[in-house]
Formats: sequence, structure tokens, C-alpha cells
Amino acid sequence: MPLPPDVHDAEPIPPAARAAIDELLQSGDLFRYTAPQDAPVTLLEGEFAAMIGSKYALAVSSCSAALFLSLKALDLPRDARVLIPGFTFAAVPSSVLHAECLPVLCEVGDDYRIDLTDFEAKLDDVRAVIISHMRGHTSDMDAIMALCDARGIPVIEDAAHSLGTTWHGRNIGTIGRIGCFSFQSYKMINSGEGGILITDDADLVARAVIMSGAYEHNWAKHKGPRGENVPDLQRAFERWQNRLPLYNLRMNNLSAAVIRPQLPELARRVRDGLANHDHVAARLNAAAHFDVPPPLPAERRAPDSIQFNLLGLSDAQTRAFADAAGARGVKVQVFGLSTDNARAFWNWQFIPDLPDLPRTRAMLMRACDVRLPVRLSRAELDLIADILLDAMAETLGELHAFG
Ligand SMILES: *Cc1c(COP(=O)(O)O)cnc(C)c1O
Repeated sequence: MPLPPDVHDAEPIPPAARAAIDELLQSGDLFRYTAPQDAPVTLLEGEFAAMIGSKYALAVSSCSAALFLSLKALDLPRDARVLIPGFTFAAVPSSVLHAECLPVLCEVGDDYRIDLTDFEAKLDDVRAVIISHMRGHTSDMDAIMALCDARGIPVIEDAAHSLGTTWHGRNIGTIGRIGCFSFQSYKMINSGEGGILITDDADLVARAVIMSGAYEHNWAKHKGPRGENVPDLQRAFERWQNRLPLYNLRMNNLSAAVIRPQLPELARRVRDGLANHDHVAARLNAAAHFDVPPPLPAERRAPDSIQFNLLGLSDAQTRAFADAAGARGVKVQVFGLSTDNARAFWNWQFIPDLPDLPRTRAMLMRACDVRLPVRLSRAELDLIADILLDAMAETLGELHAFG
């Protein structure tokens, strides 16, 4: 049998990045605020906002930084309660604590989406909500926005891993008050590290810009859509001048030079990623013991990995399945069974009074995660699917044989 592909290899950065990087190395102009205009970070912000359909974008050092700045931009009081899903990456509750707020965890169902009954039950004394579209799975944003709008609760979308996903045809990240994306290497656009915050709200973006490290009057280099001067934005900057701490979470020009030539690749990556995912999903769903939850009707996904639940298996069988796939060269992460997994809420022991979430826990104990980088060929995808099916056959056969 041929060896499966290394699913941690990234796609090459488009060659167009080289000229921009060479120019930056030649000039040494790496800081976003040195050039009077058109610094790569500034250009990236304009291009990203136009692509995604938001008024403003602020590029920063990571999605975690974007989430933290979002909470600070909302001006939440100390110890404000912020509702987050019980299935997300540890960076999300961390950003809440960093903003001196208290994370409140809500249950997530077998389809990796927010349990709306638990969500509604926990909304009452909450001051903000972060929705993580975990691994790109979109929760019911119509229901979430209706519940939050009725109570005047701002929604931050953690779209770190959802760039290119749409909801009723609209880009994920543009539905809540603020959207946050990641450019870390395992996401759809890769600059190693990096993030971006988007919003239509001039006051929020002005606060985030200043706190991200636009000291003195560097904020004057942030403009509205298509580089226009927006009076509301100008007034917001003047209002907040010298009144906010600087956390210095800026993006540097080299990162922007790596990201910009990838933006035109996004549509192709989304198309290929979705076709790849759906191919493997159909093969797994046709077999016993596998369940790949379908997208919600309003959702068009942009996956670079696949998640599936193992049905009717014990803990021991689930471990045996992951081991059998691993022995054949396909790494399967069972979120709740791999040691110290950063997406298993019981490992977030830095949260005071960490609750239990029985539904989320049960899901995490059977939910498997396999990377499917968008560059894989049909033959490579079939090889991965074959290995997963073989691993299941071996798991059930062996355990029957040995009782
Ligand atoms: C990757 C990820 C983050 C963190 O992004 P960074 O840019 O590494 O800080 C946050 N939330 C989710 C859902 C992620 O997938």
C-alpha cells in the first residue's frame, strides 16, 4: 500500500510574495507605521475588509489577540461574564481571562454546534458572547443573533478556522458585531502567525486600533473602506486618544506580504477543501460506525479537516481505532481521549470553578479529527478513507476475536 500524505505539510506560499518580501528586506521597512501610506499591513486590511464585506479590518499578531482586543473594545467591566462554547480552542477562554472577564461555558452537541437550549438558559447575566465556529462548523447564527439581539448582548465571532464559510451566502465573521480570523499555519491562509479583526463599528475599531499599539497619532493611518476618511472614525480616534492602554499586538509588514498574495487563492482553496471533505465524508457515512454530521441548511462550509463521530464503540475500541489508523499513517485525534488536548474543556484548569458539561464531554469522547489539507488529490483522499475503514475493521475484528 502507498504511504498516505503528510497532512501537516502546508501549501507553498504563492511566488508573488517573494518580490514584496525582497523589497521589505532591502528597505528594512518592517514596521507597519513607518511608511506614510500603503504599508503592506494597511493594504492587507483594506483588501481583507473588501473581500469579506466589512467596513473596517485591523490586522494583529494572532486571532487570540483579535479576540482579546474585541473584548477590550467592547469596554466590558471587570469580571463581566462572557459566554463561550464548551468545545473550542483553549485560546478562547484564555482571551476572556486576559480581558479580566469570566468565561461561562455552554454545551455543544454531537454536531459540534452550540446547544441552543443551554445557550439560552445561560444568557441572562452574560455581557458578551463569543461564538467559535469550531473547525469551521457554524452554529445556528439566526437563532443566536435573535437571542442576543433581543437582550442587547454583543456577539463576537471566533472565525479563526472558518475563513470562506458562508451563512445564507454571507461571510462568516460579518454576522456578529466583531469577527476574528487566524493566519496561523493550520488555517486557510498561512503566515505562521497572524490574525485580523473585522467590524462595521467605527467606535469599536478605533478602540481596538489604539489598544493594538497605534500610539500617538498612528491611528491616522487607519481609514475607512477604500481608503476614505470617515468622519465617525476620525471622531472616535480623537475621543479615545490617550485614554486607552497600549497592548502592542500589531502585525508586521513581512506577515502581511506573505498573506496578501494568498487572498486571491481563497476561493479555490474553499472549493477544493469542500469537495475533498465531502468526498471523504460520503465514504465514511456509507460505512457502519461512522457519522459525519451534515452542514446546517444555511451553511456553506470551507473545511481543511474532517470531524466524525464513532458510533457504538467503547472507550477501548475508540482508542484502538485511533491507534490502528495511526499505525497505517493517518493521525486521528479523538478530542477527548488524547492527553492534555487543548480543545477538551476539562483541561482548561486555569478557569475558576470549571463546570462539567456532560453533553459536550460525551461528544468529545467519540469525536475524531483528521486533517485534510486542500491540496490533497482524489487518490490521496481515497487512501485516507481506505485507512480509516480498515482501521475500523481491524478494531472490531480484533476486539471480537479477543473478547
Ligand atoms: C486557531 C484557533 C484560534 C487561535 O488562533 P491563533 O491565531 O493561533 O491565536 C482560536 N479559535 C479557534 C476556533 C481556532 O481554530
